[in-house]
Amino acid sequence: MKTYIVETDAIRHNLDVLLKKAGKTPIWAVLKGNGYGLGVSPMAALCWEKGVRRFAVTELDEAQIIREQYKDAQILMLRPTADQGELNRLLDLDVIATIGSSEDAAALNSLAAQRELVAEVHVKIDTGMGRYGFLPEELEKILSVYRYNDHIAVSGIYTHFHTAFAKAKHTFAQADAFRQVIQAITDAGIEPGAAHCCNSTAFLRWPELKMDGVRVGSALLGRVPVRAGLRRVGWCETTVEQLRWLPAGHTTGYGAAWRAKKPTQVAVLPVGWYHGFTNEYGHDIFRVRDCLRSALSALKAMVLRKKITVSINGKKCAVLGHVGMLHTVCDVTRVPCKPGDKAILEISPLQVRGMEIQFQ
Ligand SMILES: *Cc1c(COP(=O)(O)O)cnc(C)c1O
Repeated sequence: MKTYIVETDAIRHNLDVLLKKAGKTPIWAVLKGNGYGLGVSPMAALCWEKGVRRFAVTELDEAQIIREQYKDAQILMLRPTADQGELNRLLDLDVIATIGSSEDAAALNSLAAQRELVAEVHVKIDTGMGRYGFLPEELEKILSVYRYNDHIAVSGIYTHFHTAFAKAKHTFAQADAFRQVIQAITDAGIEPGAAHCCNSTAFLRWPELKMDGVRVGSALLGRVPVRAGLRRVGWCETTVEQLRWLPAGHTTGYGAAWRAKKPTQVAVLPVGWYHGFTNEYGHDIFRVRDCLRSALSALKAMVLRKKITVSINGKKCAVLGHVGMLHTVCDVTRVPCKPGDKAILEISPLQVRGMEIQFQ
C-alpha cells in the first residue's frame, strides 16, 4: 500500500494566505504540469471554491479540463503557439493566448479573422528568461501587436522572473525593464492592459511588485523557499512491509553502502526512487559556480551528518544505504513498530509516480 496524500485544508489555508496578501489584486492560479503533479481538476476546484476565477496553464488539455468544469473561468495559456491545430482549439475553448512574437500574432490574427472573431491575448515580454516573448528593445514589434491586428484584443502584458529565490537585484532589474516597456506603450497612446510579473516567490518576497495580478503555482502547495505561513502540501503514506534483524557486518542496498556495526532492526518499505523518493531536481551543473554550490551542499550534508529519514509511527528513522528503485530500508532498532504500521515519506508532488493521489 502506498498513497500520496494531499490535505485539502492545507491548500485552502494557503489560498487564504495568498488571497489576503494579494488584497484586491487578482490571483492567477498556475496549474501547469498537471496542477503541479496533483491533478488540474481537484486543484481548480479548490481555487474556485475560494473565489479564484483566473487560471494559467501550458497545455490545452489542462485548459479543457478547467473550461469543462467552469465555463466562466478566465484561462491564460502561458506557452505561445503558432500551431493551427492548437490555435483552433484555443479559440474553441475561449482561452487567452500568449503572444510572444510577431509570428504568433500574425498566426492568431489571421485564424481569428477567418473565424470572424476577436481573440483575447496577453503579450509576453522576455526580460531575461530567454524562452518566450518580445525583447524589451523590440518596441515597434510590440506596438504592432496592439495596433495592426484587428482580430486580436490585448487585455494583458506580462514577464517572468528567473531568480526570484535569490538576490533582489535581479528581479528588480527585470521589473524595471518590464515597466519601461509598459511606459513606452502608454507613451505611444496605447492602453497596455493588465500587467503582471510575479510568480509565487517574487510575490511573497516583494508584494510591492504585484502590479495588476500575480501568478502563483508552487505557493498553492506551500512549496516555496520563503517563510510565509504556508502549509507544505503532499506526502507519501505507506506501511512497513517487513521487519528484520540484520547481524553486525551485514549490509543493505545496492553497492552495500551501509554496513551494520551492531545488530540492527530494519523496516523494509515498498517505496523507492521510482516513486520519487529522494529524487531531487534543480541541481544543475551549467556553470562552475553551480558545480561548486552542489559540491558545497554535499560537503555540508556530510559534515552535519545529515541523514535521509522517514517517519514511522511518528518517529524519525534513518534510511540505511542507497534507496532502491522500489524499496527503502530504514533503521527501527529504537522505534517500536510492526508490519502494517504507517510510514510517511517526503516526496515532491512534481516527482511522485506509481501511486494513487488522494485528496483528503
Ligand atoms: C510556472 C510559472 C509561474 C508560477 O511559478 P511558481 O513559482 O510556481 O509560482 C508563473 N508564471 C509563469 C510564466 C510560469 O511559467
